Amino acid sequence: MKTRSTIYIEPSAWKEFKQICNREGESMCEKIESWILQYNDRHRKGNPQLRIDYTLRLINQQKCGRDDCDFPAVGRAEAKTGWKGFLCADHYEQSRNARLLKSWKPI
Ligand SMILES: [Zn+2]
Repeated sequence: MKTRSTIYIEPSAWKEFKQICNREGESMCEKIESWILQYNDRHRKGNPQLRIDYTLRLINQQKCGRDDCDFPAVGRAEAKTGWKGFLCADHYEQSRNARLLKSWKPI
């Protein structure tokens, strides 16, 4: 029997994770559970090279917020239209060249 648990996560990251899982027809719970099982396997005997913050960074890694783009984000953008979100390197380049950005902050 499985147990119900609570985690704390950035709302935008959770929303995007949910959208991606829905699009791919994957179960959010199964994905998270598989990450935890892998993490436990790697750390059960104590591996000093793999630290929890590294794993959490991978789990929470921001993806590009543009349409169907799944590339990792390289920064947070604010467009002149008011849109705010994360962009991958290509979409940042594109938006910058088209002079659509009001502000940009690398992550
Ligand atoms: Zn992108």
